[in-house]
Parts: sequence; structure tokens; C-alpha cells
Amino acid sequence: MVDPRGFLTVRERELPPRRPVPLRLMDWREVYETQDRAQLKRQAGRCMDCGIPFCHNACPLGNLIPEWNDLVSRGDMREAIERLHATNNFPEFTGKLCPAPCESACVLGINQPPVTIKQVEVMIAENAADSGWITPQVPERLTGKTVAVIGSGPAGLAAAQQLTRSGHTVAVYERDDKIGGLMRYGIPEFKMERSVLDRRLAQMEAEGTRFRAGVNIGVDITGEQLRDRYDAIVVATGATQWREVDLPGRDLAGIHQAMEYLPPTNRIAVGEERPADYIDAHGLDVVIIGGGDTGSDCYGTALRQGAKSVTQLDIYPMGPQERAETEPWPTMPKVFSVSSSHEEGGERKFSASTQAFIGEDGKVTGLRIVEVRKVDGVWTPVEGTEQDLPAQLVLLAIGFSGPEHGDLVGQLGLQADARTRFTRTPGYATSTPGVFVAGDAGRGQSLIVWAIAEGRACAASVDEFLMGDTALPSPIRADAVPLTA
Ligand SMILES: Cc1cc2nc3c(=O)[nH]c(=O)nc-3n(C[C@H](O)[C@H](O)[C@H](O)COP(=O)(O)OP(=O)(O)OC[C@H]3O[C@@H](n4cnc5c(N)ncnc54)[C@H](O)[C@@H]3O)c2cc1C
Ligand code: SF4
Repeated sequence: MVDPRGFLTVRERELPPRRPVPLRLMDWREVYETQDRAQLKRQAGRCMDCGIPFCHNACPLGNLIPEWNDLVSRGDMREAIERLHATNNFPEFTGKLCPAPCESACVLGINQPPVTIKQVEVMIAENAADSGWITPQVPERLTGKTVAVIGSGPAGLAAAQQLTRSGHTVAVYERDDKIGGLMRYGIPEFKMERSVLDRRLAQMEAEGTRFRAGVNIGVDITGEQLRDRYDAIVVATGATQWREVDLPGRDLAGIHQAMEYLPPTNRIAVGEERPADYIDAHGLDVVIIGGGDTGSDCYGTALRQGAKSVTQLDIYPMGPQERAETEPWPTMPKVFSVSSSHEEGGERKFSASTQAFIGEDGKVTGLRIVEVRKVDGVWTPVEGTEQDLPAQLVLLAIGFSGPEHGDLVGQLGLQADARTRFTRTPGYATSTPGVFVAGDAGRGQSLIVWAIAEGRACAASVDEFLMGDTALPSPIRADAVPLTA
């Protein structure tokens, strides 16, 4: 360590500036600016190189956080990217998009602000890309084995990269017109620009991974055909089956699911032609039902489209500013969080539940909401708190129930658990020989970091199935659970 007392001399947590709100509302570019190198080194130098690094344990990838913090504080960015890539195929995705359970578990966080781990990670990754260090790792020899990956989100891509580098011939099938899963058309451009994804895909293509976009497996090619053509199959189809609300007025025009709204907008953000299903919030009162991250993505998107007003409804009460006693370190606490979108305008309402949609001439004009409290575990309306909100556009961001169950399920002999997720062994295998499941399809809607960890671990199981042995790392079992209270 450059200075073993670094955490005592630098007590503040410093992050790079965010672009000014009026400026960022005029475009779709990322919100954060680059961090000054001296500040980055100072911040990385706050790491205590703990004997038991809880940060490392909280990360499903097992990222070697104290090691790369030390390297960055010394200015050795080249070795830092090597250590980062040792556990994470796509550190720029997690550096930009992860909610960072590692920071919640950082030992320094017990009595000081935690180390800015996620920021250090993204700076190592961005610096490596700028320096030309993200080069293809082409396998020295091919095994002659073939693998089909269904779904091109972070789980499918991580599995594909690991297996390609092991010498297998890998094709990734994606029903969308472009590769990337939810990182392509789900997550808004202002959180991660698509050029970051494309840069990584170019590396994978140069390594030999084949991408087949616009192919819906189960429809265009059946599961049986795929099994005939390939030695192994990885199902990484995500958990994109959205939840519905069953409320009076749901059939009014102007009420949409978040994932009906975000993808066409994300196409516009990257300069594609305006699609027929584009939903424009310009000049409208927008209400978003759901207080989570998908709701926050709709929030920032509607503000950029020039909505007249944006209101996000959260059924949960406003979280505390600090950890509650029931959520002690090193768990990931549910505290009040302000996303970059929330800084940009609009309004958030907590303890708010929707009772009905109101409309005129078949179109939504508002919602009736009521304040709720949990009584005996049930959300119960507080009498006299009913209120009508104007809304010409309502977006439902209330989560996803599990993977979609199309023809593929029967064709590959997949089975599902009570939450509709595809069942697999702790080693990612299904009951159909040679068919594996990774990512949200098996875990349920989760996070990119878990999808990458599952993709890596699933690749190790596939490699072992194909070759009888594997040297690939397997960071987590399929039944691993996150570190929460
Ligand atoms: C709006 C939104 C914002 C999010 N923001 C964040 C964030 O900021 N940070 C974070 O960590 N997580 C975020 N998440 C969650 C994260 O995106 C997912 O957990 C992650 O993408 C899951 O990866 P995956 O590879 O399992 O599946 P996905 O990314 O869902 O990819 C699955 C792919 O499989 C394809 N597919 C499905 N069926 C077939 C078929 N039959 N044939 C061919 N292709 C098929 C789908 O089209 C899809 O592209 C967000 C999710 C949403 C919806
Ligand atoms: S827990 Fe925090 S201080 Fe300790 S090694 Fe990890 S990042 Fe450094």
C-alpha cells in the first residue's frame, strides 16, 4: 500500500461530477464525467487492504477489490485491468450499472463513507479501453465442440466469452435485432452508452464468438434442431415476463408497461428511426407506478422527452437516510436513494398505492391513489387519504415475474419452479443432458453482476460436461443467495 494510513488522511468520499442537469436533459449521453486521475488515486488509497475483505465476499464475482485498489493508488493501471479481468469479463458494465453490494459491505463503511469501489472499477475499465488494452484473446487451439447460447444479455455473453476462449465454437442466438439483452434496449443510454457494449462485442467477435441476432429460438429454429446441431446449449433468456395490475380502468389507452416504453425510446436515443411503437411523453403528465430502478429509468426518460410532469409512486414508505438497525453492516440496506434521474426534476410519492385508473373517451386522464400502511403484513389504505393525480401517460414498472415460457420450454424439456424460473442443479444443468440455464432465466430478475457471475460459472460446468474436466473459474453456485439482511 502506498500509505497504510490513507483512510485516515483522506476521509471524504469523492466522486466525479455529474453533468449539469439542464445540459443532460437535452441529450441521452451518460450522466457522469471522467474522474480526475489524482482524485482517483487518492480515493483508491483509502482502501485498508483488510485481512478479511468483506467487499470481496459481497461481490458474486469475487472481484479482487483490495488488489486493484492498491494498484490504482500506485498508478499501475495496466496490472489493475489484468486483476479486474481475472474475475469479471465486463467490468465496464458493472462499473457503470451495478448498485455495488461491495460498497455496502466495505469495512471502512462501518464508521466512514465506504471506498468508491465501483468508481475505481469503471475508471480501470475505461482507461484500459482508451489505452487499447482490451484486445481479443483468441484460443490457441479449437476443441471441435460446439455450444449454442440462447439470449445475449450479460449472462449469455459471459458464458459465450469464457467458452470461446476455451476453444469451443460458440454461437449466441438473440431474438432481438441486435445483441446485448436488456443492456441493448432496456437500460437507458444515459446510464450506459451503447458504444460501451459495442466495443465489448467487437472484442468477442474477434475472439471467434458468432452472433446470430433476429433469431427466435423455439420459433425460427426449434430446440430439437439446436440440440442436433450443438454439443451443449446454454439457456440465458432472461426474466422478461412483466407483472400486471388488475385495477379498474387498466384497459384505457395510455397505460403501458415500462418495457413497452423504454425499448423504442432507447432506439431513438442511439439515432435509429422513430419506431411505430414509440411512446412520446412530451407535454404529458406522466405517472410511473413502481419505486424501483426500472421506474427510475422511465423517470429520466420521460424528463428527457419533455414531459409536463413526472411522478413516481412507491408503495413502500420513504427509506431511512442511514442503515436501520435491522439491516446491519455488511448487508445491503434499503436506504433512501436518489438516482441521477431523481435529481433532474419530477416528484416521488411514497406509501402510495393506486386504486383505479380514471379516463375519458377510452383514454387515461388520471389515477386515484391512496396512502397505505402495512397492517399484519398487508398494505392497508389510510382512510381519507385518497387523491386524484392527472396523467395522460401511465407507466407500469412493478417488476418481472420470471422467464417467458414459450415453445422452447417443451422443446428443450425445461422445468420451472413455483416462481416460474427454469430449474437447474447448483451446477446449472437441467434434467435434459447438455442443456444448462444461466442468469435471470434461472435466478429471476436480478442484477448484471449476478448474470455475469452465473454466465462464468455456467461456462465452467459446460466445459466440464464437454471435456470431462475444466480449468475455468466457477465464482458462484446456481443456488447462491445475495448478502441481504
Ligand atoms: C429497465 C431495466 C433496467 C435495469 N437496470 C439495471 C441496472 O442499472 N443495473 C443492474 O445491475 N441491473 C439492471 N437491470 C437488470 C439486468 O438488466 C438483468 O438482471 C440482466 O440483464 C439479466 O441478464 P440475462 O443475461 O440473464 O438476461 P437479459 O439481459 O434479459 O437477456 C436475455 C435475452 O434473451 C433473449 N431471448 C429470450 N428468449 C429468446 C429466444 N427464445 N430466442 C432468442 N433470444 C431470446 C431476450 O430477447 C434478451 O435479449 C435492469 C433491468 C431492466 C428491465
Ligand atoms: S472492505 Fe473496503 S477497505 Fe476493506 S479491502 Fe475492501 S474496499 Fe478496501
